[in-house]
Amino acid sequence: MKIIEISPLVRRITADNGGVFTGGGTNTYLVGHQEITVIDPGPASPEHVENIAKICGEDIKQILVTHTHNDHSPGAKLLHQRTAAPIMGMYPLHKEMQDPTFKTKKELKHGDEINEAEYTLKVIHTPGHASNHLCFLLEEEKLIFTGDHIMDGSTVVIAPPDGNMKQYIDSLELLKEIDLKYIAPGHGNVLENPHSVVDWIVGHRMYREKKVIDSITEASKATIDELIYSVYDDVDKNLYGIAKYSLEAHLNKLIEEDRVLKDQDNYYWKG
Ligand SMILES: [Zn+2]
Repeated sequence: MKIIEISPLVRRITADNGGVFTGGGTNTYLVGHQEITVIDPGPASPEHVENIAKICGEDIKQILVTHTHNDHSPGAKLLHQRTAAPIMGMYPLHKEMQDPTFKTKKELKHGDEINEAEYTLKVIHTPGHASNHLCFLLEEEKLIFTGDHIMDGSTVVIAPPDGNMKQYIDSLELLKEIDLKYIAPGHGNVLENPHSVVDWIVGHRMYREKKVIDSITEASKATIDELIYSVYDDVDKNLYGIAKYSLEAHLNKLIEEDRVLKDQDNYYWKG
């Protein structure tokens, strides 16, 4: 087990679940030293949970989850059974691809605060990757835990119906209203210059959206299976299965904005 001190108040240990969606594995963050808040205990890995419990000892106060995908929250139930610390998060709007074991003692909402003597964590609702996605702002260090809202080194998958591209962009813009120094993502290393990171991600999504618009206008009508080739012509074809989710999310955003129409499997440009 490797414990990384990323700031005076925050330590990180990473679960052993690296892969296509999880990069080097899911990051679990321990905030505080006397009264510890655990953020994202990770997958249902008894070994990882045992490591967390050992580091925290008696000092664990609560377990927070950024969202309830299976690489972030199933460890919460195991850690609760081991330590009795309460679990807090938000329930998702859709059941697909969610952790069925997740139960929160108190459902968190935007603007809630977790106050300990050493620190304050502020809850920021950031739907987009998942309807129930929360970021947590550590006010003393202007450090934000972003779960899968912002990852280090890879683009976040937005899978409808629980994933929503329009909300995702809005939730990114929301972070620009907060004074921030560091991003501690759910996967990968700490990122500096949070507002430039956000600008880059929004720019990248808008670039992709422009490719969607160009492809539909050129074809006048097209299905997702047709659009994927032109919209993601710069992406490895092995990733098309995943990219189709994000493509659908882009199309849903354009439908919400009344710029695209959908009839059966065909998408039409409305302008
Ligand atoms: Zn994740």
